[in-house]
Amino acid sequence: MLGPVLHVASRSDTIRRLVSTTPVTRPVVDRFIAGERLDQAVAAVRSLTGRDLEVTLDHLGEDVTDPAEALRARDAYLELTEALAKEGLGERAEMSVKLSAFGQALPGGHDLALANVLPVVEAADAAGTTVTLDMEDHTTVDSTLAILAELRRRFPATGAVLQSCLLRTEDDCRALAGEGSRVRLVKGAYREPAEVAYQDKHLVDRAYVRCLRLLMAGDGYPMIGSHDPRMIAIAQELARRVGRSPRSYEFQMLYGIREAEQVRLAEAGHRVRVYVPYGTDWYGYFMRRLAERPANVAFFLRSVVSR
Ligand code: FAD
Repeated sequence: MLGPVLHVASRSDTIRRLVSTTPVTRPVVDRFIAGERLDQAVAAVRSLTGRDLEVTLDHLGEDVTDPAEALRARDAYLELTEALAKEGLGERAEMSVKLSAFGQALPGGHDLALANVLPVVEAADAAGTTVTLDMEDHTTVDSTLAILAELRRRFPATGAVLQSCLLRTEDDCRALAGEGSRVRLVKGAYREPAEVAYQDKHLVDRAYVRCLRLLMAGDGYPMIGSHDPRMIAIAQELARRVGRSPRSYEFQMLYGIREAEQVRLAEAGHRVRVYVPYGTDWYGYFMRRLAERPANVAFFLRSVVSR
């Protein structure tokens, strides 16, 4: 019951203002977000890479409402790229972008998002790193995959995210299982209608396994974006069956979630990448984390009550 309510809240401006200005929110937000400033994000990268983990950085922001905001998102990523290059972190840290932060939902948004993200992908390439396009709700998938195809013509290492909750995703996995392709497979964080998505969690999990099979058997580079112990074990078993080396795929988890498991997998010789969000616009991201796990809500409420 709570999940759908939190999904609606994640898009409400009134609740955004309320939650964002409540001081008790802060310590809980800090668990999931590396900080509001770039230097805090860089410090988090240093700390994680020091533990043999790799990183993908997300400058928080989504659903911008005017082109100037989209330009600010672009500039924030250009600044991030510069910092990664200057700190020599390009090899261990890549970037994740949400195209809605680059203007995808505005009029003419497809072209605008492409025009805004292109300089970031170019700068990333020059800095020895790369970009993965996060996937947002189902209405954005065609546009995001078309932008991916466009970017990959010049920058083949550009990655994308596919969500097993969507009925279309097995086909998308087939299309993106080829050589050079980098796909992060996740279950999906958005509330989607029955016409396009599985509603039952078990069906989402089963679809995840089918998608994993396709990606693992292909020639691309699968990125397993999940905290689910079963999915992690199945991915390892599939990799063994198809004879993949540990460096030909990677695990990805979110900052602040299952940290001990992140380190354990890395120590066992796996490549593990942590998704590190930073910035002031943390509300939507934070609410999705609460929506996907009741324990996170309990953690939030406990911190409110204990003040
Ligand atoms: P769930 O199905 O939520 O949980 C399954 C099991 O995993 C649980 O029963 C528990 O055993 C374990 N588990 C899960 N969370 C925790 C926890 N906090 N502590 C301890 N155990 C836990 N979604 C998108 O829609 N688009 C994106 O671009 C996107 N990018 C992502 C990037 C990364 C690196 C990751 C990890 C996720 C991303 N997601 C994205 C979110 C994703 O879609 C899921 O909503 C989220 O990962 C929860 O699903 P799950 O597979 O981790 O496990």
